[in-house]
Amino acid sequence: MPQQPLAQVPKDATWQWQDSGACREADDTLFFHPPNERGLARLRRDRAAKAVCSRCPVRIECADYAIRSREPYGVWGGLTEEDRERIYARIAIAEYPRQRGEGADMCSDEIAAAISARSLGIA
Ligand code: SF4
Repeated sequence: MPQQPLAQVPKDATWQWQDSGACREADDTLFFHPPNERGLARLRRDRAAKAVCSRCPVRIECADYAIRSREPYGVWGGLTEEDRERIYARIAIAEYPRQRGEGADMCSDEIAAAISARSLGIA
């Protein structure tokens, strides 16, 4: 597992986008794994959360926030904890995106792949 610094809320964080999140109407237990969840159960729950994120109008804002804050837990913007760990491992700490939108720009490929048909288990 890559070394992660502590999560840190970006100075320019905003929260209004959360009011438009598709997860507001979804089962909130989909987005955070219960203790000791493994294997197929985890894969199914993550995919169900990603499916909600895939139709969310604020997915990019959500993913951007999670990346910039190095959010350690849950599914955000369609990115699972493992998806984000790969991002954290790819980007040097000194170059880490901090300004609003930088995370979405630097990680656009991963954000798109997170809700691809393959990632959702439908291809
Ligand atoms: S992208 Fe997913 S986790 Fe983020 S607000 Fe939308 S539905 Fe919720």
